Amino acid sequence: MNDFSIGVDLGGTNLRIAAVDVNGHLVEKVTLGTKVSLGRDHVINDMCEAIQHLSEKYKNSSSMLGIGIGVPGIIDMQTGLLRESPNLPGWAEYPVRAEIERRLNTMVILENDANVAAFGEKWLGAAKDHDDMAMLTLGTGVGGGLVLGGKIWHGMNGMAGEFGHTTVEPEGHPCGCGNRGCLEQYASATAVVRMAREAIAENASCSLARAAHSDLEFSAKSIYNLAIQGDEDARRIFRRVGRALGIVLSTLVNSLNLPIYVVGGGVASAWEAFAPAIFEELRHRCMVYAATAPADPLAQGGGASSHVDPGPGRKTIITRALLGSDAGLFGAARLPMIAEAAR
Ligand SMILES: [Zn+2]
Repeated sequence: MNDFSIGVDLGGTNLRIAAVDVNGHLVEKVTLGTKVSLGRDHVINDMCEAIQHLSEKYKNSSSMLGIGIGVPGIIDMQTGLLRESPNLPGWAEYPVRAEIERRLNTMVILENDANVAAFGEKWLGAAKDHDDMAMLTLGTGVGGGLVLGGKIWHGMNGMAGEFGHTTVEPEGHPCGCGNRGCLEQYASATAVVRMAREAIAENASCSLARAAHSDLEFSAKSIYNLAIQGDEDARRIFRRVGRALGIVLSTLVNSLNLPIYVVGGGVASAWEAFAPAIFEELRHRCMVYAATAPADPLAQGGGASSHVDPGPGRKTIITRALLGSDAGLFGAARLPMIAEAAR
């Protein structure tokens, strides 16, 4: 077997741990619930046990290069402290990296979850042929990651890439970050459900009201299902998602002129419902996109087989992610491999 490392995706709901070899082959994956309510030490115990199990199992036939962990929150890259994490109450200011290194006696690299997702798509997914890329992850919130010259761009404090908190509506819905009208308030799963509930409250949609009444979960996925069945009210919500994304992508494309921008996360499975509105906005708002748009931008968002050559000249590609929820696991596992190579 090739040398391998262990990637960890520490979410508010799931804790996933995988052994991945240096060629990007997933050797084994373990999924555990994150028992956040039982406290930080419990979660760290579970994590260390699963890591130990995987590394013992494979280390006789090859070398274990280290551990990469994707964490939702702001990380101090120098000290490995988790500064702030709304999904992991009680973890703030905790020396996560030092504690796990102490327990497992091996190199640990901590990284923001949206950054590792971007890094995974850059390594093995939609952006694998590019050294420069940006990614938006549409989940409960909206995360962002930027990879430049093949490396995650951290900025001065490890806080770069917070695209989810750029303003799309100056007087819009209040956001947890203190701003109003952030992208996250229009393009996350939480936002999709909120916008549907707003339409219901305004008596603006009988079909959404019926669905909310009969479907106890009434999630972004339920609304997407309505949209693909042709429900105009549900489709309008996803057009709003696309519009918000298009506004932010216009700014990114004008500012960065990268070859590829990837849209991932759970909400990205509704790509067909919101992508046309993204390209509509880009065409109107983005000078750099107008000059670099491929002839058929939607042809590049088709899915696993969507590896389309953008044609002659260098074009701006905006496409959906390919690795689904594993992007973060692969990206996290890649971190120790890069660090090892740089030594
Ligand atoms: Zn915000």
